[in-house]
Amino acid sequence: MGTDGDTPDLAEQKMRFLFALRSRGVTDGRVLNAMERIDRGMFVRGVFAERAYEDTPLPIACGQTISQPSVVGLMTQALEVRPRDTVLEVGTGSGYQAAILSCLCRRVYTVDRHRRLVNEAEAVFRALNLSNITAQVADGSRGLPDQAPFDRILVTAAAEDPPNPLLAQLKIGGIMVVPVGQSDAVQNLIRVVRTERGFTYDEMRAVRFVPLVEGLGSD
Ligand code: SAH
Repeated sequence: MGTDGDTPDLAEQKMRFLFALRSRGVTDGRVLNAMERIDRGMFVRGVFAERAYEDTPLPIACGQTISQPSVVGLMTQALEVRPRDTVLEVGTGSGYQAAILSCLCRRVYTVDRHRRLVNEAEAVFRALNLSNITAQVADGSRGLPDQAPFDRILVTAAAEDPPNPLLAQLKIGGIMVVPVGQSDAVQNLIRVVRTERGFTYDEMRAVRFVPLVEGLGSD
């Protein structure tokens, strides 16, 4: 609702949001369109909701974080998602990244070790009518063998190394983007391409993600 003064404020915040994305290197038109379409405010709760359009990570339930929008944009861009692709995301969190991916491909499988996060994200997917996302509780370090192989894999929690099961579940020609490093030290965003002969690895940039933890969470 809001008063007359609120509406232009929100529009301006959203304009600045898109401007910040572009100035930080998110230039792919399809990615920018998806990020314009999906309202990040739907994925952030309580006192942090008013900061949804700032280019900053924010706390969500279960001690986790929704990633910084420009990092979401850069990771999505690096994944080069095509319209017919099946994508696996490890680390549903708020569901924001999965929602962006869902605008760009045929189907998104997203997994999180916390049931509460999966349930809350599913409710937002329903509210936004995003029917091509399947969210489930699973230890994503093992991938999702029943649905493998995947055209693209996006990991949004930091692993010490790209997990072998995920490498094995990537199609030939497939791309995986994964933050690699110790959780409390510098992590690097790595782009892995599976070729006929093996894997090529490219370092993209330094990032900071919550750690990839094995096993399921208690909530
Ligand atoms: N992509 C999210 C942010 C992810 S935060 C978003 O758009 O909001 C990282 C998430 O990875 C957390 O929710 C955490 O619970 C999850 N996670 C950590 N280890 C995991 C594992 N082994 N399997 C599945 N999810 C995991």
